[in-house]
Amino acid sequence: MKVMVVGAGHVGATTAQRILEGELADVHLVDIKEGLAAGKALDLAQAAPVVGHSRRITGSTTYEGGAGAELAIVTAGLPRKPGMSRDDLIGVNGPIMAAIARAVAKVAPEAVVIVVSNPLDVTTTIFQEESGFPPQRVMGMAGVLDTARFRTFVGQALGCSPEDVSAMVLGGHGDSMVPLIASATVGGLPLRELLPAERLAPVVERTQNGGAEIVSLLKDGSAFYAPAAASVQMASAILRDEQRVLPACAWLTGQYGLSDLYLGVPVRLGRAGVEEIIEVAVSAEELKRLQASAAAVREQVARWHDMRDATLTERQ
Ligand code: NAD
Repeated sequence: MKVMVVGAGHVGATTAQRILEGELADVHLVDIKEGLAAGKALDLAQAAPVVGHSRRITGSTTYEGGAGAELAIVTAGLPRKPGMSRDDLIGVNGPIMAAIARAVAKVAPEAVVIVVSNPLDVTTTIFQEESGFPPQRVMGMAGVLDTARFRTFVGQALGCSPEDVSAMVLGGHGDSMVPLIASATVGGLPLRELLPAERLAPVVERTQNGGAEIVSLLKDGSAFYAPAAASVQMASAILRDEQRVLPACAWLTGQYGLSDLYLGVPVRLGRAGVEEIIEVAVSAEELKRLQASAAAVREQVARWHDMRDATLTERQ
């Protein structure tokens, strides 16, 4: 098995490390910055005898080393700076994603793809459009991370292990995400019975601002340990055909009353990519928020299409 990780920055390099050390697959790391992917690949290769694994890694500014990869994880592009929204990144990360999608499609036409770069719902759309891959094989990582943040904060509020918190976050990656409260459980018990509404509200709010909180602390860069861990959980589900039920940014074809857009929903992940989109009953309020989230994503995708068309017209 081979995984191509595009972008050898914080998220990309940490993702590569986890894939190797988890013995999931060999890795080809790509970065536009001369020497960065090659240097990090060499460094990671030299950790192998100490850590004790036999997976191989290469790194380059080119994609050929990733030929025939079963999975591509795209983490290339700028992260947010304090005060920026994820959507502010479209102008820079949109064209980067379009170029990467075409390059990945050339060398690994059968790959399943996990997009990580922000703004997530838009970059995932761009990758699918530019690669021409079936939507089932292209998805975005956000829900596993957003859910992990929710689980962490619930665990902290209750003084219990976040591992025992089971929850699902739907919607776009950003302020419009929709944590499903009614179905959330702690050790099998309903969350709502353990944490009163007035203590739950700040937990939900902190989850929605989870990325921004880290950006404001780091000042230069955004979260990467948890995003890499979340990406690798999805990678494992795909490479090992685990059929895991996880939230992912997936292409909707009528589910939740929405179609023709990428949005965070529960899916079953396996070797073919998104094997099923799972529809669960949501409350009227949650549905309203999911629709608002979808509207926000559609608006940003339309913004990207306008930018792309304007650039094409300029070039003609
Ligand atoms: P980073 O700056 O550390 O790394 C990004 C890397 O991309 C850099 O090394 C850069 O040289 C490379 N790059 C830029 N253009 C490229 C191109 N055309 N081809 C190949 N490589 C290119 O940033 P990071 O912290 O690793 O974050 C990467 C992206 O992931 C950002 O857009 C960030 O917002 C996003 N992110 C998303 C989530 C999520 O939940 N989906 C979580 C964390 C970060």
